[in-house]
Amino acid sequence: MKKAKKAVIEFTQERDWDQFHTPASLSRAISIEASELLQNFLWDDKYDKQKVCDELADVVNFCILLANKLEVDLEEIVLNKLMDNAKKYPVEKAKGISTKYTEL
Ligand SMILES: [Mg+2]
Repeated sequence: MKKAKKAVIEFTQERDWDQFHTPASLSRAISIEASELLQNFLWDDKYDKQKVCDELADVVNFCILLANKLEVDLEEIVLNKLMDNAKKYPVEKAKGISTKYTEL
């Protein structure tokens, strides 16, 4: 992830685009790119893997930029949230079912 972070930040700096990147605008960008990802599955579950990967990369790129803007380590916050989710969804209660944690 360090290599990707460095590359995305360099890409942005070279173009002087950081001026447009507020936490709000980056959050909007993540949502828009997530919608573009969903567009690949609009009418059925068939998909073009390359197009899906392109949109997934767009989402992740903006996630990297938002984490950088917030001055947090993306890997660290992902792992922390995963630990929180593990408490909400203990294996013995959640394995093999999709019920929301409030209903477990
Ligand atoms: Mg896109």
